[in-house]
Amino acid sequence: MKVFKGIQASGGIAIGKLKRHHWNTPKTVFRTVDSPQEEIKRFKNAVDIAEKNLNILYEKACKSVGKDEAMVFKIHALILADVEYQRLVKDKIIQEYCSSEYAVHKCGENLCDMFKYMYNSRYMQERAADMKDISRRLIAILRGNNNNSINNIETPSIILVKDLMPSETIQLDSKKILAFITRDGSYMSHSAILARTMGIPAIVGIGEVQFQQIEDCDCAVVDGNSGKIITNPDDCILQKYIVRQKECNMQKQKLNLLKDKETINPDGIKIKLYANISNTLDLPVAISNNAEGLGLYRTEFMYMKEDIPTEEYQFKIYREVLESMAGKPVVIRTCDIGADKKVKEFSVENEENPAMGCRGIRISLKYPNIFITQLRALYRASVYGNLSIMFPMITTEKEVKLIKNYIDKVKEQLDSESIVYSNNVKIGLMIETPSAALISDKLAKMVDFFSIGTNDLTQYTLACDRMNFQIKDYWQPYSDSVFSLIKMTVENAHKNGIWVGVCGDDAGDRRLLPKLIGIGVDEISVTPSQILEMKEKILTTKAKFV
Ligand code: PEP
Ligand code: MG
Repeated sequence: MKVFKGIQASGGIAIGKLKRHHWNTPKTVFRTVDSPQEEIKRFKNAVDIAEKNLNILYEKACKSVGKDEAMVFKIHALILADVEYQRLVKDKIIQEYCSSEYAVHKCGENLCDMFKYMYNSRYMQERAADMKDISRRLIAILRGNNNNSINNIETPSIILVKDLMPSETIQLDSKKILAFITRDGSYMSHSAILARTMGIPAIVGIGEVQFQQIEDCDCAVVDGNSGKIITNPDDCILQKYIVRQKECNMQKQKLNLLKDKETINPDGIKIKLYANISNTLDLPVAISNNAEGLGLYRTEFMYMKEDIPTEEYQFKIYREVLESMAGKPVVIRTCDIGADKKVKEFSVENEENPAMGCRGIRISLKYPNIFITQLRALYRASVYGNLSIMFPMITTEKEVKLIKNYIDKVKEQLDSESIVYSNNVKIGLMIETPSAALISDKLAKMVDFFSIGTNDLTQYTLACDRMNFQIKDYWQPYSDSVFSLIKMTVENAHKNGIWVGVCGDDAGDRRLLPKLIGIGVDEISVTPSQILEMKEKILTTKAKFV
């Protein structure tokens, strides 16, 4: 028995034969041709066939995974039809007297590099993968090998491949391909997204070393939830996974049926169900689980990497998030550094009690340049979607006044630089300190929405450190004291005509949820992978009117 580890790209458990798949594609080498004009004809013919194939794939994908995921094939067809792309290939053939296979291969490679280095965004990395996919398709057609052979296996198997292009993934026959493992790839790659939508367990990015170590075998386990691959499992492990697989499949089927269902409880009360994200890697799961919006994007993790993120870097990320959510509401929280989320540039010495120290909005107000940089990036990105900005750790009205002054300053700066921004950006506050809840009537008059952070609200109300496992029994977000503050906040929000959500981790606690629905919470935001579970809870939880 051997255990390997990769990136969990698509959940679920597969048990079966493991087989390495070799693409039957010889290396594309330089070949001189006598007639470039003949080669150009071959190239054009291949483009026509590829376009037809892509249309068929698009139709097929629309039926199997839906229009949004199928879009990738429309994009491929558009790239193929692009006059500039075709001109590049033709010029290469004419200038170098080379075969169309070689011209397609080289132009594809150059464009890939350009995509990769021109913008440092994951979106562009994926466009590079699309380019690779297009080149591979055209070369296969030019070689007269227009068939994907990956499904040509007798026994249903787990397949191990170097990489999988989106068009190859979509053609996987889920009756034959129990799961796939790839050497390359990321959680965000189209293939991973498609695997999640198609419900095929998948582990990606295992790297060259493990890729070489894994051998074909008659029995292997792929645990897409943990990223584990076990070859030749012993009996005890195998039995454990057989049981887990059954449970997993049943639960998955049940929850998947809820994807398109409106989140309305048995009393007919509608709750908006949003997702909390910490980085762009969380987006695909939020999107594939049909989150109605993003209720909390915790931006501080961006600051916890090497350097303080520049305005440009942040702008690109916010833009990517807003564009990916395609007009759905996106609440981005300014950085909540401090307490357990330390960043050395902002470390405050001798803080005996950092959770009550310089954290959240206090850091932003202490370092105005950093705050202004983030606000500028957010406002610049605002034109790409439906943006709301939220501020953490609020305790006083004065903080909100200061925040608004900074926002005005940023808008003035952008106006003077003729940089466009949306006039429809909404401003909201995290209600996560008892103080904010107690003055929520006043705060509600200053902003457009509230989001209750039950994690910190519980910590500060019950004087119960959220990081201290030894006092876990004191952690009672459903206690009367915490609930009174939540109720007060919701009443004050509604009295002043603004909406209020809950984005803390305990929103789904059975002891709290009926009361949250009962007092009229408008929105609940949870981790992307919990959306369907949460939906199931809301659909079956009656309101408790208190
Ligand atoms: C909260 O406090 O409930 C919250 C959502 O914020 P965080 O967990 O990031 O502190
Ligand atoms: Mg908090």
